Amino acid sequence: MQYLSTRGDVRGALGFGEALRRGLAPDGGLYVPASWPVLHPQDFGDELSLPAVAARLIAPFAAGDAVLAPALGGIVRDAFDFPAPVVPIGGDPDHAVLELFHGPTAAFKDFGARFLAACFQRLRQPSDLPVNILVATSGDTGGAVAAAFHRRPGMQVTVLFPKGLVSPLQQQQLTCWGDNVRSLAVRGTFDDCQALVKQAFVDPGMQARFQLSSANSINLGRLLPQAVYFAASSLAAWRRTGRPLSFIVPSGNLGHAVACCWTRTVGLPVGQVILAHNANRTVPDYLDSGEWRPRPSVATLASAMDVGNPSNMERLRALYPDVGAMRGALSACSVDDATIAARIRADFERYGQVWCPHTAIAAEAWARLPDEARGGGPWCIVATAHPAKFAEIVEPLVGRKVEVPPSLRALYERPSSFAEIDPDLAALRAALAG
Ligand SMILES: *Cc1c(COP(=O)(O)O)cnc(C)c1O
Repeated sequence: MQYLSTRGDVRGALGFGEALRRGLAPDGGLYVPASWPVLHPQDFGDELSLPAVAARLIAPFAAGDAVLAPALGGIVRDAFDFPAPVVPIGGDPDHAVLELFHGPTAAFKDFGARFLAACFQRLRQPSDLPVNILVATSGDTGGAVAAAFHRRPGMQVTVLFPKGLVSPLQQQQLTCWGDNVRSLAVRGTFDDCQALVKQAFVDPGMQARFQLSSANSINLGRLLPQAVYFAASSLAAWRRTGRPLSFIVPSGNLGHAVACCWTRTVGLPVGQVILAHNANRTVPDYLDSGEWRPRPSVATLASAMDVGNPSNMERLRALYPDVGAMRGALSACSVDDATIAARIRADFERYGQVWCPHTAIAAEAWARLPDEARGGGPWCIVATAHPAKFAEIVEPLVGRKVEVPPSLRALYERPSSFAEIDPDLAALRAALAG
């Protein structure tokens, strides 16, 4: 399989491993497959475990890659070593939740980060210099990447976060690793952290000296593994009901939106796709008006989805080039903070379910479905994070403590350490050399 930039320079086609290594195409576009494999539900045997589905689903995407194709079996066992269960809500199997929060940092980003780390480890030759992964983070991503690369040989991770601007629990997840993970509190904002990482990547001296690499969310190696749980859950529903499974996906940067649509494009039984956004309405407004108007993000309770200019829109447009095609393929809605809070309360009372604020947006979108759409089920809402990560928001709404899962508790108990730097390249260079 070859990969092309969404910005269309066909001369730039390259293989799976190289697309992963580069992350972003040289023309600034995102890598997408040059053609679509065709898969059928029957191709997937009886075993619907995540590693089994991943091996079958990803094989055509890795085909032809001399390193990753033969190693795929080991990569998927390494990456998919925690489950993504589909749990009925209120005992109704046609109204279920796909729980993506059973990994080391209790949010779905663990899946993509672990797959990418497993691939990078195989792509590296023993004689290569150590690779330096730089990641700027305002919350979830840095922790997932640090956890995924922690103690992998030949790889150094440097996490940059804005000093004093992440919550104490988030900071703990970014600074509790040690070994090959270095945490830097930057005296500035998240934008300063991101600008610093970008400067480092375009600085030829830094690039040569430190073998810089990125684990950015636009990397194909983080996106493709997200298709695996849409495939596994839709195949299980198909076996049970003979009908496709429709998904409601909490959305920000549109990584899940793309992964879910790709799963349907290759022929798996995904039904409707609804993108559930917070008050950042760029995507719902586009589907309503046909005009693409990115804007600055606004802060909401579902902070991991505070995105006003979603980068993966380029990949959605590569699938659905005009607004008419996109309207036929998916729909979108927007939910404000007061409604998120009300939904967390209501679903706790009605079902005993505690949602994180992101998941609550999907739960609200389900509650808004007309009866006939619901009857056309089965439906699955996607839970992107464990509510314990957002205890300060969720606990007052449900009036009780949220139990912290064991993986997170273990992180909270590790010692924390980090260095502080000014937001300039010389300071970053010194920190990387130290
Ligand atoms: C990153 C994140 C999202 C947004 O994901 P996209 O797939 O990029 O739209 C949603 N929820 C949580 C908890 C996240 O961390």
